[in-house]
Formats: sequence, structure tokens, C-alpha cells
Amino acid sequence: MNFIIFGVLAPILYWLIRMAIKNFVINFINNAKRNSGVKNMTQCSKCKMFVDEADMQIVDGDFICTKPECKK
Ligand SMILES: [Zn+2]
Repeated sequence: MNFIIFGVLAPILYWLIRMAIKNFVINFINNAKRNSGVKNMTQCSKCKMFVDEADMQIVDGDFICTKPECKK
């Protein structure tokens, strides 16, 4: 009897724990990203520097950073 209960509960528990860990890891990564201010970095197609996507402009389909020499 115990073996039957264990055989049914173990996979369910395993699955629940896996889901819990997965959710925890996803939340942890999202929180870490938010807290550390990690942003999407994109390479400027002119100076080849990696710049925060929010500071980029798209010019003719290319990402251009806001530096004066790149904006030309
Ligand atoms: Zn640039």
C-alpha cells in the first residue's frame, strides 16, 4: 500500500517541485534583471559600441547610438 501511494505521489511531488523551482528561477532572474537595471544592449552600427537599447535610434534599419559623430 505504501508503495502504491509513493508511486503516485512521488511523480506528482516531483512535478510540483520542478514547477516551483522553475517559477522561482524565472522570478529570480526577472527580479535580478529589474533590480540591477540590466538592459538590452545593442551594438551601434557605426562605432560598434554596445549601448542601451533605450538610447538607440533606428536609422535606415540600423541601430545608431546618440553620440554626435554617429548621428550624422
Ligand atoms: Zn555609435
